[in-house]
Amino acid sequence: MTFDQLRLEGVTRRFGSHDALTDLTLTIERGEFIALLGPSGCGKSTALNCLAGLLPLSSGQIWQDGTRLDPLPPERRGFGMVFQNYALFPHLSVRKNVAFGLQMRGLSRAEVRRRTDEAIRLVHLEDQTGKLPGQLSGGQQQRVAIARAVVLEPALVLMDEPLSNLDAKLRLEMRTEIRRLHQSLGLTTVYVTHDQEEALSMADRLVVLRGGRVQQIGTPEDLHTRPVNRHVADFMGFRNLLRLRADAAAAEGTGVVVEGDGVRLRGTTVGAVAAGATVVAAIRPEELSVVEDTTGDGVAATVEVVEYRGREFAVEARTGSGIQLNIRTSVRPVPGDKITVTADPEHLLVFPDDGDDT
Ligand code: ATP
Repeated sequence: MTFDQLRLEGVTRRFGSHDALTDLTLTIERGEFIALLGPSGCGKSTALNCLAGLLPLSSGQIWQDGTRLDPLPPERRGFGMVFQNYALFPHLSVRKNVAFGLQMRGLSRAEVRRRTDEAIRLVHLEDQTGKLPGQLSGGQQQRVAIARAVVLEPALVLMDEPLSNLDAKLRLEMRTEIRRLHQSLGLTTVYVTHDQEEALSMADRLVVLRGGRVQQIGTPEDLHTRPVNRHVADFMGFRNLLRLRADAAAAEGTGVVVEGDGVRLRGTTVGAVAAGATVVAAIRPEELSVVEDTTGDGVAATVEVVEYRGREFAVEARTGSGIQLNIRTSVRPVPGDKITVTADPEHLLVFPDDGDDT
């Protein structure tokens, strides 16, 4: 069973008086890899469980092409699921774990064998088929869980933080593996993670949630370069968030001057910024530069911490008024150095201040 489009319309889930997920509207095209991204408690798993049918909706609808899906129980939706605790059968071998779902469907022995072999080959576990899950590494167990889901050729695969129990190296390997499987099988995937790097590297589109509400839906590039508000920016690695004031002549677009507490920089407005209003200016560490010339726009700061990061240095510096700046630079400064920092106006995004620092 496959589909052209899966559509969530105003999907909302409450727990008592708490809104875990509010008004999620999203169209998923066949073959897409969608990541649901956001900090702990933002409603990612709730969204996934609503889609899976494990949680009834408080309101809203889910449509698969012309069929209303939300009244159907999980087993009638035909979705595959991979969760962080792999829930493998501990007493069954790798092969039997993978074959189980096919056997339950009453397929012939030859067909079960053929499809099981293929799924095991896809996740590179050919030499582990006789082992029990307890005899496998975490990464291998996760591969079994993935093989078990994809062997059923589901219309949609739902994954909830499937890599969170793995060590850093394996996590990177499995990222590539899941992405490869997604491409070779043309799977439609919805993937929950709180790790922005994971989401950016794997997904075709990302849905950023905060407090149960969608903040932004877009491609990795959209989110990386043009976050729509300071919360998405914060989540996307704009580690410098400075509360400043827009210049009296503030205009829309690039070139707006933001200042305050000894800081004077130029940026690009995102959303309406009134002249003289308080704003939040956001910039990534790698977009700040340390300059020799102290006569133009910029920020004077004192270097506090320097960390070696391969080809460059991660520097923490502090302005006279106590604002901390995170900078990446190829020239090694020394703690105590007085530096001047500037920003490329294209990369300094200026958001209206919503006053919400949570
Ligand atoms: P995490 O990354 O920590 O799993 P999440 O983004 O997946 O977080 P959800 O598990 O969807 O977040 O939870 C969203 C909100 O709903 C949280 O505030 C959570 O406490 C609440 N919540 C989730 N499940 C229940 C439940 N069964 N009963 C009551 N509240 C719940």
